[in-house]
Amino acid sequence: MADLSTVEIAFRLFVAGVAMVGPTLLFLGFWRFMMWLRDDRLIDTLIARGTLDERPAPSAADILATATASHPGARRCPLCEKRNLPGVRLCRECGERIR
Ligand SMILES: [Zn+2]
Repeated sequence: MADLSTVEIAFRLFVAGVAMVGPTLLFLGFWRFMMWLRDDRLIDTLIARGTLDERPAPSAADILATATASHPGARRCPLCEKRNLPGVRLCRECGERIR
Protein backbone atom coordinates (compact mmCIF):
# COMPACT_ATOMS: atom_id res chain seq x y z
CA MET A 1 0.00 0.00 0.00
CA ALA A 2 1.42 3.33 -1.05
CA ASP A 3 1.81 6.10 1.47
CA LEU A 4 -0.24 9.17 0.57
CA SER A 5 1.08 12.57 1.46
CA THR A 6 -1.25 15.23 2.82
CA VAL A 7 -1.06 17.10 -0.50
CA GLU A 8 -2.13 14.00 -2.42
CA ILE A 9 -5.04 13.37 -0.05
CA ALA A 10 -6.13 17.01 -0.29
CA PHE A 11 -5.95 16.86 -4.10
CA ARG A 12 -8.00 13.66 -4.22
CA LEU A 13 -10.63 15.18 -1.90
CA PHE A 14 -10.74 18.27 -4.12
CA VAL A 15 -11.26 16.13 -7.24
CA ALA A 16 -13.98 14.13 -5.48
CA GLY A 17 -15.71 17.35 -4.41
CA VAL A 18 -15.62 18.75 -7.96
CA ALA A 19 -16.98 15.45 -9.32
CA MET A 20 -19.87 15.57 -6.83
CA VAL A 21 -20.80 19.26 -7.01
CA GLY A 22 -19.82 20.04 -10.62
CA PRO A 23 -22.75 18.37 -12.43
CA THR A 24 -25.26 20.07 -10.12
CA LEU A 25 -23.73 23.48 -10.75
CA LEU A 26 -23.63 22.83 -14.50
CA PHE A 27 -27.31 21.87 -14.49
CA LEU A 28 -28.31 24.94 -12.48
CA GLY A 29 -26.25 27.12 -14.80
CA PHE A 30 -27.90 25.54 -17.83
CA TRP A 31 -31.35 26.08 -16.26
CA ARG A 32 -30.58 29.77 -15.63
CA PHE A 33 -29.32 30.10 -19.21
CA MET A 34 -32.52 28.58 -20.60
CA MET A 35 -34.64 30.93 -18.47
CA TRP A 36 -32.53 33.84 -19.76
CA LEU A 37 -33.14 32.73 -23.37
CA ARG A 38 -36.92 32.64 -22.90
CA ASP A 39 -38.49 35.47 -24.88
CA ASP A 40 -41.64 36.63 -23.07
CA ARG A 41 -42.19 39.54 -25.49
CA LEU A 42 -42.23 37.10 -28.45
CA ILE A 43 -44.78 34.89 -26.67
CA ASP A 44 -46.97 37.93 -25.89
CA THR A 45 -46.74 39.04 -29.53
CA LEU A 46 -47.76 35.57 -30.75
CA ILE A 47 -50.72 35.53 -28.34
CA ALA A 48 -51.78 39.01 -29.53
CA ARG A 49 -51.61 37.82 -33.17
CA GLY A 50 -53.67 34.74 -32.36
CA THR A 51 -50.93 32.28 -33.26
CA LEU A 52 -51.03 30.85 -29.73
CA ASP A 53 -54.19 30.20 -27.74
CA GLU A 54 -52.46 30.69 -24.43
CA ARG A 55 -49.04 30.97 -22.88
CA PRO A 56 -47.40 27.59 -23.51
CA ALA A 57 -46.39 25.79 -20.36
CA PRO A 58 -45.34 22.33 -21.48
CA SER A 59 -43.86 20.10 -18.85
CA ALA A 60 -40.96 17.82 -19.66
CA ALA A 61 -43.45 14.95 -19.85
CA ASP A 62 -45.49 16.89 -22.45
CA ILE A 63 -42.44 17.53 -24.60
CA LEU A 64 -41.38 13.91 -24.46
CA ALA A 65 -44.93 12.70 -25.05
CA THR A 66 -45.49 14.89 -28.12
CA ALA A 67 -42.63 13.03 -29.75
CA THR A 68 -44.96 10.06 -29.87
CA ALA A 69 -48.18 9.83 -31.86
CA SER A 70 -50.12 8.50 -28.88
CA HIS A 71 -50.05 11.76 -26.87
CA PRO A 72 -53.68 12.86 -26.36
CA GLY A 73 -52.86 16.60 -26.46
CA ALA A 74 -50.78 16.49 -29.64
CA ARG A 75 -52.51 17.93 -32.67
CA ARG A 76 -51.78 16.77 -36.18
CA CYS A 77 -51.82 19.26 -39.00
CA PRO A 78 -54.63 18.36 -41.45
CA LEU A 79 -52.47 19.44 -44.37
CA CYS A 80 -48.93 18.22 -43.73
CA GLU A 81 -49.55 15.69 -40.89
CA LYS A 82 -46.89 17.38 -38.71
CA ARG A 83 -47.43 16.94 -34.94
CA ASN A 84 -47.78 20.21 -33.06
CA LEU A 85 -47.72 21.08 -29.36
CA PRO A 86 -51.04 21.39 -27.53
CA GLY A 87 -52.40 24.95 -27.56
CA VAL A 88 -50.95 25.87 -30.94
CA ARG A 89 -53.39 27.27 -33.52
CA LEU A 90 -51.12 27.32 -36.56
CA CYS A 91 -48.94 24.46 -37.81
CA ARG A 92 -45.28 25.06 -37.10
CA GLU A 93 -44.38 23.44 -40.42
CA CYS A 94 -46.79 24.89 -43.00
CA GLY A 95 -48.83 27.52 -41.10
CA GLU A 96 -52.15 25.77 -41.69
CA ARG A 97 -54.85 26.46 -39.08
CA ILE A 98 -55.26 23.58 -36.62
CA ARG A 99 -58.55 22.91 -34.83
ZN1 LIG B 1 -48.87 21.64 -41.45
